[in-house]
Amino acid sequence: MSHPFPRPRKALGQNFLTDQNIIRKILTAADLQSSDQVLEVGPGRGALTALLAERVSRLVAVEFDRDLAALLRQQYQDNPTVLIHEQDVLQVDFAALLGTGAYKVVANLPYNISTPVLFRFLEQRHRFSRLIVMLQKEVGERLAAEPDCSDYGVLTVLFRQWFEVRREFLVPPGCFFPAPKVDSVVISLVPLANSRVVAGDQALFEKVVRSAFAMRRKTLWNCLKNAAVAELPAVEAALLATAIDGQRRGETLSLDEFAALSRALQKTA
Ligand code: SAM
Repeated sequence: MSHPFPRPRKALGQNFLTDQNIIRKILTAADLQSSDQVLEVGPGRGALTALLAERVSRLVAVEFDRDLAALLRQQYQDNPTVLIHEQDVLQVDFAALLGTGAYKVVANLPYNISTPVLFRFLEQRHRFSRLIVMLQKEVGERLAAEPDCSDYGVLTVLFRQWFEVRREFLVPPGCFFPAPKVDSVVISLVPLANSRVVAGDQALFEKVVRSAFAMRRKTLWNCLKNAAVAELPAVEAALLATAIDGQRRGETLSLDEFAALSRALQKTA
């Protein structure tokens, strides 16, 4: 019998969910209400799409694969609740696509671009009331990491600043077709009303965080110097004012310490 779907494309990170129990658990984690508007990234063969479409007031699904987008468009052509938008999610103009109302995100993300997609969600966080994302376990661990471990990085610090990050459940490779080589994890991200810390100038704060992780085995002092975040006397004064030892490695700083350092730099620079 001929199969209606094209063969899975590895280059597009196509691992389709086949386990109905996992699909149900994702929907439960999304805590859907009939009034919800949902953005699905990478609907693929539509395993999540079908159940989302039945439950919410609006579903916008962004799919990059032309063939799968065409099949989905055909399937939902008579359903005014569902919009299938064919585009690379990294290029989407979210303001034009979603307008001003709040959306929930439900996404089994293509693993090859999950980190840049997460950074896009971070930048667009004001549009989202909750995000339920399936990621490779390793990226999920980076979101939920503690200082001074190898998973702790820019992603961890910036998501902790703006979100409540919760690890929902692990998903083994056998729940997908084709099975990926790695374990997966479902994470929920709930935006905080405000930044978790008083970070001062956000652009400076992000520059400090990025520079601290830019050279992992170097001291904080060397990282800040190398990234030229401020004049060296200002960096010295900020470290002194916050009692943060410049000989520490950047990745040992907590979110609070990054915020304190950035505020102090804002004052001294
Ligand atoms: N949601 C489906 C499921 O759970 O079975 C498919 C998930 S699969 C891991 C990732 C999906 O994202 C695929 O359908 C793939 O074509 C799509 N995709 C890959 N890159 C994309 C991109 N840049 N923008 C939008 N969708 C993309």
